[in-house]
Amino acid sequence: MYHTDIVIVGAGAVGTAIARELSKYEVKVLVVDKRDDVGGDASKSNSSIICSGFDCPPDTLESMLCLAQRSMIEQLVKELDIPFRVCGAIMPAVTKEQYDLLPGIYREAYRNHVYDVEYVSPKQILEMEPEVNPDVLGGLYIPRDAVIDPFLFVVAQAENAACNGVEFLLNCQVTGIGRGNGKIETVETTRGTIYTKYVINAAGLFCDDIAEMAGERDFVVKPRKGQFFILDKNTPCKISHIIYPIPTPETRGKLLLPTIHGNILLGPTAEDLDDKEDHSVTAQELEGVARDCRRLVPNIRVQDAVTQYCGLRPNRIPAGFHIGLSEQTKGYLGISGVRSTGISTSLGIAKYVVNMLQEAGANLPFKFDYVRTRKGIPCFREADMKTRMALQKENPLYGKVICRCETVTEAEILEAIHRPVGATTVDGIKRRVRAGMGRCQGGFCGPQVIEILARELHIPVEEVNKNLEGSYMVEGLLRGAGTGKGGR
Ligand SMILES: Cc1cc2nc3c(=O)[nH]c(=O)nc-3n(C[C@H](O)[C@H](O)[C@H](O)COP(=O)(O)OP(=O)(O)OC[C@H]3O[C@@H](n4cnc5c(N)ncnc54)[C@H](O)[C@@H]3O)c2cc1C
Repeated sequence: MYHTDIVIVGAGAVGTAIARELSKYEVKVLVVDKRDDVGGDASKSNSSIICSGFDCPPDTLESMLCLAQRSMIEQLVKELDIPFRVCGAIMPAVTKEQYDLLPGIYREAYRNHVYDVEYVSPKQILEMEPEVNPDVLGGLYIPRDAVIDPFLFVVAQAENAACNGVEFLLNCQVTGIGRGNGKIETVETTRGTIYTKYVINAAGLFCDDIAEMAGERDFVVKPRKGQFFILDKNTPCKISHIIYPIPTPETRGKLLLPTIHGNILLGPTAEDLDDKEDHSVTAQELEGVARDCRRLVPNIRVQDAVTQYCGLRPNRIPAGFHIGLSEQTKGYLGISGVRSTGISTSLGIAKYVVNMLQEAGANLPFKFDYVRTRKGIPCFREADMKTRMALQKENPLYGKVICRCETVTEAEILEAIHRPVGATTVDGIKRRVRAGMGRCQGGFCGPQVIEILARELHIPVEEVNKNLEGSYMVEGLLRGAGTGKGGR
């Protein structure tokens, strides 16, 4: 049984940003998530763009919050040591029809108060991006669109929130919401009852289910799947900007970008589904990604893909951002419709939500001992020789490389496990320090990561999960090394 002031359902980009914002105040906050880790569903499987908001629907809450976040993000990434690069974006038109759409997109950027979008000539585009289709007729340059590590974006905020007193309850599914006398009283979960005054619904794809539990459901959420390729860092065709296609009324289309870690990402598709658990990738849709991306960058080599993945956008019907306190149930705050820009708007959403709580009379005194900063795990791969030597001198495990593809050391893996809201699974390690993200996708380092997790968490290797509870990586021991057990 737990007692708190505010329960946030969902530890994705939105829930975690709200948690961090609330951690600036003297209030008890508990974040619950059914997953094994913070990072969310959509928040860990997207295009990783912090967009300026140039192409948001104008005059909407989404557009306003995107703009608000752009003013805060550079400060946040400095404070929390999050990998972030303002690489800028190019939108090339390669047909006459596309070229004719540029003025409309330019005007829309202006309506969204993104005034630094500029027209660029074919010559300028090819100077900036020599691999763009030489048939390009002209395009737009969006200088402030940026790429981020979306997982560390969430982890860093979670660590900082935890350091300021927020509690995280993972592997904990919300199953009901108790109300009495017109207000929130409890949240029922698979890990027991939580007594609380407020519930903030940041459950993404499942926010309609949580709304239903609170008697607040007047919408549905359907998944819109996006599939991607990630190319090897050594692929010969390089790009240095985000390259957007010209959008159609149905979709923003498939883009290419240089990820923050030096890979190239291609995608996503936009497939409307009914099944919220469909995380499959399909050859047919990925062929479409390859085809569309080659129209923009003909030499791109999808045969250099190291992996494919997909994410499910929480597509609200009716569409649009909806953030508000319930009028009939005091203490319920619903967030829905954060479909395609949740990474780019989450900081804005967090400010908006906290302001809304304050306006409604919530007691939120400022915390004078609030810790504003957090340091990332020192990254051996990116360090210069002098720093590498210093790291190894301080901790010899910086000399033991576990993941060869990404040059990740045992010291980094240990820190990922032992930090606040630390990694407890193989994917948790992968997302924090990139062990298993490289060319062999964990084929080599996977067994060692499992052994380290088992040793540090004091559990048998058979109980180490890939991600969710029960997603074991090991069936049993073949020769029973060191345990006295036989093989199966
Ligand atoms: C293909 C694709 C590309 C995208 N590209 C971009 C981009 O480039 N830039 C950008 O800004 N945005 C992008 N987005 C959108 C962005 O990823 C989402 O808007 C954002 O991640 C939503 O965050 P969230 O925290 O609301 O949801 P989520 O990340 O889905 O988190 C919700 C959390 O709630 C938890 N939860 C659900 N139900 C329960 C329950 N009953 N009990 C407990 N926990 C529960 C889930 O486990 C999950 O962890 C993209 C999305 C996709 C899919």
